[in-house]
Amino acid sequence: MKTFADLGLADPVLRAVNAQGYAHPTPIQAAVIPEMMAGRDVIGIAQTGTGKTASFVLPILHGLASQKLGPQKFSGAGPKAFRHLILAPTRELAQQISENIRTYGKFMRPMVGLVVGGANPMPQIKALAAGLDIVVATPGRLLDHLRAGKARLDKTTTIVLDEADQMLDLGFMPAIQEILRGVGPNRQSLLLSATMPQPIRVLAQEFMNAPREIAVAAVSKPIEAIEQEIIMVDQSRKSDLLVDLLATREVERAIVFTRTKRGTDKVERMLNDAGLRSIGLHGDKSQGQRNKALAQFKAGTRKILVATDVAARGLDVSDVSHVVNFDMPTIPESYVHRIGRTGRAGRSGKAISLCDRSERNLLRDIERLTQTALAPISSTTSAETSPRFTLIPAPAQAQRAAPRGGQSRQHPRSGARPYSPAKKRAQKGFAQRRSAAAPS
Ligand code: AMP
Repeated sequence: MKTFADLGLADPVLRAVNAQGYAHPTPIQAAVIPEMMAGRDVIGIAQTGTGKTASFVLPILHGLASQKLGPQKFSGAGPKAFRHLILAPTRELAQQISENIRTYGKFMRPMVGLVVGGANPMPQIKALAAGLDIVVATPGRLLDHLRAGKARLDKTTTIVLDEADQMLDLGFMPAIQEILRGVGPNRQSLLLSATMPQPIRVLAQEFMNAPREIAVAAVSKPIEAIEQEIIMVDQSRKSDLLVDLLATREVERAIVFTRTKRGTDKVERMLNDAGLRSIGLHGDKSQGQRNKALAQFKAGTRKILVATDVAARGLDVSDVSHVVNFDMPTIPESYVHRIGRTGRAGRSGKAISLCDRSERNLLRDIERLTQTALAPISSTTSAETSPRFTLIPAPAQAQRAAPRGGQSRQHPRSGARPYSPAKKRAQKGFAQRRSAAAPS
């Protein structure tokens, strides 16, 4: 197995990697780093948790270390050019990437700028004018600066599109195209995406130069360490069941996903009212609120994060023991991304999805994508007035075979084995009566 030293990374980069305690490059790193160091364009099909951030950050830092070129020093007013641009779909992911750059660049001190929406643009403009090595940006804000003449791309030589398919989902494609048109032809491009929908392929054909394609674990395959549980429950009873689950299970840290921003606010309020200290995160909150929410969640002062899909991708928070889908995701790939927030770094995790009858078709889409029969159990309230629940297996469904024609849209040959803890319980005659104490 290759080591980081075998990859020929510059000394300060190697020292930083060693300081992180990484023994070996992950598969995406072992494949992408040499291609990037050789100057080739790369398409990497990889989801978060694979170590993909370091796969592009390390070669960028290696380039900076070996070229010994500082930030562009042009005289005169106006923005300086910068060599390396990383685009990410969300502010949180951009922030996380810039933190990773600081970690891996700690023996080099590269000049890194974060250019994201929801934050005061003035410090960003000042940093762009002072000169930067690497800019990590969300597409919309970078475009604002470019149009206002506060950023320039004419000397940019590396461009990374991280989570390209999520940027597509969020409607950033026109902004990305405009940005790419502004970067000179002598650039190296890396496109990372969990899936490769057609518009991303078209983008790659248009803007990349004979890219090598590297695929590691497909998005249709949830991490095997994650135990998945689907509970059929009436929409009107989801809140009570959620409180019950979070209060009675051994929850270290949990992320509760809702479909809408308003839903996030409602669930956050409801959990706090029930004594379960929670914090909400969605796109309508100010960047300050979003940073604070994430910081509180990471620090453990709030053990429950309630969020829209803005938090589904990329976020690397350790010790998330549970992910709860309060609403089933409408895009089946989101299910895999959401539950991938748990079971990270070799740990196990639980993903619980609350599914109303009206969401059954969404469940079927997920089963088709993951080629897994998820075997829902049903919940019945023990008394109308009580928030306690009895969870019983639904044998007919539990015995159901893998979904017919189980073709994944993106990964038709995925080898994901059916996994159904509920089925195991059904076989054991599982009928668990929840007798939780009132949530404290
Ligand atoms: P990412 O997919 O970039 O979000 O990375 C997921 C996690 O893997 C992060 O917590 C990284 O610190 C960690 N990581 C990255 N590279 C390695 C490696 N070679 N060995 C062990 N952990 C790693």
